Amino acid sequence: NEPDNVESDGENPPPLAGTNVMNIILVAAECAPWSKTGGLGDVAGALPKALARRGHRVMVVAPHYGNYAEAQDIGVRKRYKVAGQDMEVTYFQTYVDGVDFVFIDSPIFQHLESNIYGGNRVDILRRMALFCKAAVEVPWHVPCGGVCYGDGNLVFIANDWHTALLPVYLKAYYRDNGLMNYTRSVLVIHNIAHQGRGPLEDFNYVDLPGNYIDLFKMYDPVGGEHFNIFAAGLKTADRIVTVSHGYAWELKTTEGGWGLHGIINENDWKFRGIVNGVDTKDWNPQFDVHLKSDGYTNYTLQTLQTGKRQCKAALQKELGLPVREDVPVISFIGRLDQQKGVDLIAEAIPWMMSHDVQVIMLGTGRPDLEQMLRQFECQHHDKIRGWVGFSVKMAHRITAGADILLMPSRFEPCGLNQLYAMNYGTVPVVHAVGGLRDTVQPFNPFDESGLGWTFDRAEANKLMAALWNCITTYREYKKSWEGIQQRGMSQDLSWDNAAQQYEDVLVAAKYQW
Ligand code: ADP
Repeated sequence: NEPDNVESDGENPPPLAGTNVMNIILVAAECAPWSKTGGLGDVAGALPKALARRGHRVMVVAPHYGNYAEAQDIGVRKRYKVAGQDMEVTYFQTYVDGVDFVFIDSPIFQHLESNIYGGNRVDILRRMALFCKAAVEVPWHVPCGGVCYGDGNLVFIANDWHTALLPVYLKAYYRDNGLMNYTRSVLVIHNIAHQGRGPLEDFNYVDLPGNYIDLFKMYDPVGGEHFNIFAAGLKTADRIVTVSHGYAWELKTTEGGWGLHGIINENDWKFRGIVNGVDTKDWNPQFDVHLKSDGYTNYTLQTLQTGKRQCKAALQKELGLPVREDVPVISFIGRLDQQKGVDLIAEAIPWMMSHDVQVIMLGTGRPDLEQMLRQFECQHHDKIRGWVGFSVKMAHRITAGADILLMPSRFEPCGLNQLYAMNYGTVPVVHAVGGLRDTVQPFNPFDESGLGWTFDRAEANKLMAALWNCITTYREYKKSWEGIQQRGMSQDLSWDNAAQQYEDVLVAAKYQW
């Protein structure tokens, strides 16, 4: 029988999960606010809290990259061998908003705060192997609220290739040996472009029985036979989730599956898309802590027009742009790489500069694209700001102060920035792909419906056409514009809905439906 060791402290709301209350452990290479390079960090910080609100006992396990003030060393020490090398890990823990956050500490994770995925392929592989080995045993070794989770009624949620070894370890070390029989694993695909690929010799770093190599073997016409961690995780996990319906569809195609479409199609029975939510405590114009100073202000749907006007003026002032209410402020926030389509914005810049607009871009990534941002700012100092850096505060302030957000991503598994933008009454202009297609219904002037503008090919002229329609509406059809903003802000984009769908997947995994 499956033990149900969930305890109620008498203060939490009654469980919504009913008879399916579970022990859930989400394992991720990054977790906001402690570590974040992109959407994965946001998801790891927010989804667990929404699952806890539904009555589950929930833990997040992430590496301990720095010194986190609130996390305490709980005094447990364990040793693991990675590729023959003995390594000691310690565990740090804190409890926030109903969730146990456990950080695995080892010298190999330290000082990587600003470079989580840094180092060569083998360095990263060794880190992730150690992390997954330690994470799969957390429910036995780490007491949370005085009691270990144990292995009954337990589901792990692993994320992306970094933790795709976890379902494999769960099987090879435990389930194959009659242990952890009631423990399940779900693997979430946030981005298929990174797979943990390497030569077949990489198998030596993951410490698995020899017959397991077949799970990792992949072949592609360019690289030939190779080792692929994501492939092994996808085959082994009890369920697979990805972060939107659009991306779920794309992953099954040759172009969208990046070589793993065959595996995804074969495992379609255990695969589904669930659109990410927004952490409405963190990304909410009513409470946003980054809008409480420097002339910014919090605002709601009711105070949208005055509040946004004030944030826009504060943003222009902070960045040294002319403070003008009538000029559309066009923004971009994100990683500077091929995926995000920054080069399409670059192609459109001369056209944009021939119009009365302001452009604000915030990002880090490829050095040539970072240089390009700086150069745009130099060339058009009265109209463009290109902020090279990772600044959560500026991301919030730009989201509040801009009128328009551009997301010309070539592919976009879910995309969070367009969701944040809509929550703040900022109108998205996006390439209709993956999660962007799921979440931004195009504006229809005939029935005054829709949330933004979309374009159907990742090309600069398509971006310009959509942006032109958007700017024209901004300038000439104020009522339509305000309608788009209000519809965006009125949506329920919270994690609660997504958490309920995750729960369905976890229950299906538990009973092997
Ligand atoms: P991805 O995960 O592909 O990078 P998402 O849109 O899902 O893209 O999530 C990106 C997250 O990272 C958002 O929270 C966004 O605000 C944040 N972000 C990206 N670049 C920066 C930056 N330069 N400064 C601050 N936040 C950033």
